[in-house]
Amino acid sequence: MIELRAVSKTVQSGAEPLTILHPLTTTIPDGQFVAIVGPSGSGKSTLLGLLAGLDAPTSGSVVIDGVDITALGEDDLAKLRGEKIGFVFQFFHLIPSLTAYENVAVPMEIRGTPNPGARARALLDEVGLTGRAHHYPSQLSGGEQQRVALARALANDPPILLADEPTGNLDTKNGRHIMDLLRTIHQERNTTLILVTHDQELAAMADVRIALRDGRVV
Ligand code: ADP
Ligand code: MG
Repeated sequence: MIELRAVSKTVQSGAEPLTILHPLTTTIPDGQFVAIVGPSGSGKSTLLGLLAGLDAPTSGSVVIDGVDITALGEDDLAKLRGEKIGFVFQFFHLIPSLTAYENVAVPMEIRGTPNPGARARALLDEVGLTGRAHHYPSQLSGGEQQRVALARALANDPPILLADEPTGNLDTKNGRHIMDLLRTIHQERNTTLILVTHDQELAAMADVRIALRDGRVV
């Protein structure tokens, strides 16, 4: 379960403090599918970054399975993130000098996950990329790159999957494929799925929608 307790974010914008997320309190039960929607600049990525512990709130706390992640040091936070959270970005963030297979396997090797090679192959199978494992990101379409990023995000079998406009940079067909994969993963692995999207159709499939405007829930 994820609990946000009066989480807010204020940044310095020139000489002025600017609140980009006003205090937000909500609880996300395990296995829920949450869509975060709202216009560009409304604070969606900020909220997702706070949920992932990639960014620290100005006030309030983020509690994941009873642990206040805002009170953790860097090492403990990195460990918790590694165990519990998978993250998919709009622009894939693959390492260009590594093949699809290596992009998935190398982080597992670094973390000491058992059988990284077999696991990477199984994950690439799961996202339908068996035949593309030894291609470099530049040799893959956007949709294929996002599927590699999804396989990488699933490497530790995370109970929580966060995705920031994962279809935002894809054409309709590839976007649909990624969404189908995300929904299948959510259903089959019973993953908590928190998805930032502009797609009304996708948002309508979620259990819960959080609509933001100017950093406030509307
Ligand atoms: P969204 O993902 O909904 O498009 P963001 O969460 O990225 O919105 O950003 C919300 C607002 O906060 C935007 O106006 C953005 O320019 C601003 N913002 C985000 N991060 C910073 C920062 N570090 N410093 C100043 N402004 C920021
Ligand atoms: Mg954003």
